[in-house]
Amino acid sequence: MFIDVAKIKIVSGKGGDGKVSFHREKYVASGGPDGGDGGRGGSVIFQVDDNLSTLLDFRYKKKYVAATGENGGGKRCKGKDGESLVIRVPRGTLLRDQKTGQVICDLSDDEPYVAAKGGNGGWGNTHFSTPTRQAPRFAKPGQPGVELDVILELKLLADVGLIGFPNVGKSTLLSMVSAARPKIANYHFTTLVPNLGVVSVGEEQSFVMADIPGIIEGAAEGAGLGHDFLRHIDRCRLLLHVVDVAGSEGRDPLDDIEKINQELAGYSEFLAARPQILVANKVDLLGEDRAPVDRLRAYAEEHGLKFAEMSAATSQGVTELMRLTWDELRELPPVFRYEPEFVPEEETVSERDWTVEQVEDYYVVSGAWVDKIMASVNTDDYESRQYMDRMLKNAGVYEKLEAMGVKEGDFVVIGDMEFEYVY
Ligand code: GDP
Ligand code: MG
Repeated sequence: MFIDVAKIKIVSGKGGDGKVSFHREKYVASGGPDGGDGGRGGSVIFQVDDNLSTLLDFRYKKKYVAATGENGGGKRCKGKDGESLVIRVPRGTLLRDQKTGQVICDLSDDEPYVAAKGGNGGWGNTHFSTPTRQAPRFAKPGQPGVELDVILELKLLADVGLIGFPNVGKSTLLSMVSAARPKIANYHFTTLVPNLGVVSVGEEQSFVMADIPGIIEGAAEGAGLGHDFLRHIDRCRLLLHVVDVAGSEGRDPLDDIEKINQELAGYSEFLAARPQILVANKVDLLGEDRAPVDRLRAYAEEHGLKFAEMSAATSQGVTELMRLTWDELRELPPVFRYEPEFVPEEETVSERDWTVEQVEDYYVVSGAWVDKIMASVNTDDYESRQYMDRMLKNAGVYEKLEAMGVKEGDFVVIGDMEFEYVY
């Protein structure tokens, strides 16, 4: 089965907690702190794999979780990092945010993409000893992992897309010029999956051609089978618009062209504006009557399209068409890549982001940075509280509060904790 859209949840691993521990040795009265750091949580990473051609796997498995970092140990032992989870996808898969639909990454090249970073490991208590504080009884917990709901959408990477009504000969053409073996049959909708073929026109001269299931009337509105598949020619640089010049199914080829172009326009203006070569196929069925070819050629000229006639049955004109295609491609920009529109939240918050607001009688200090500090503080521990105090003070939080008019005894909410303000 061919699946080209899937929704999944990805979760990176939590960092391991730092350890509180003290050095112990026979005959040594009291050793210093030796609690090790927690390991980093595993990340969720996407990687293109050319052995894959569908998103089928993601239909069955919906949640992808990377491993948690190990907690720190005594004797300065650092916890092991959690293993990252590598998710393999076919080339041309778009990663989108589920909430907004925005593109996070176009997975078209071989560069792995870290979609959810693992949480940092917490520091062990060794980090907190100072000349005046020799026995710190706290360590930092690991940072939580990141959870993200994403959509995977496969948009094949091909230079050339074949478009046209069912049965005009698109699959036959692809099978003649490449090693691809799409199904060919004399009835509609035989092509149920997109097929990619590499067409070689000379030494070091080749391009990728895609055959998609037939577009039919109303496809852009989701009426037919074709709608879903238009996304696979979305990136194509050039379209070969194939018609049955003999009208062997009783339709008028000019009518067909207009209908298909309407479908493209209904799907996307950009796709409708893509350069096309008009291909009059099945000339072998015309016999002596050249009028239908001339009519199409005139249409092409009128609309500024390149024109080619051919027969997939006798292979007349096929080589010439591939040459023409190659020459056109040389003038055209490369296959379209999507720019990221969305950066998952975690990466946009600056480390030092915090704000103070007055909400009724409260002063509320919030922001990702504040959450991070508070997650690492143990308010039952005196030294841990002092650490928090120093961090807030150094960042200018108290200064800001006082500038806003905070008075002794006022309530201040920091992260999810409430304090009474004292000078
Ligand atoms: P598609 O639906 O556009 O992919 O069309 P196919 O490639 O499956 O072809 C549909 C039918 O038309 C098949 O029976 C082909 O053998 C036949 N066909 C394709 N090209 C030609 C041609 O140039 N001449 C003739 N006579 N038949 C053709
Ligand atoms: Mg076909």
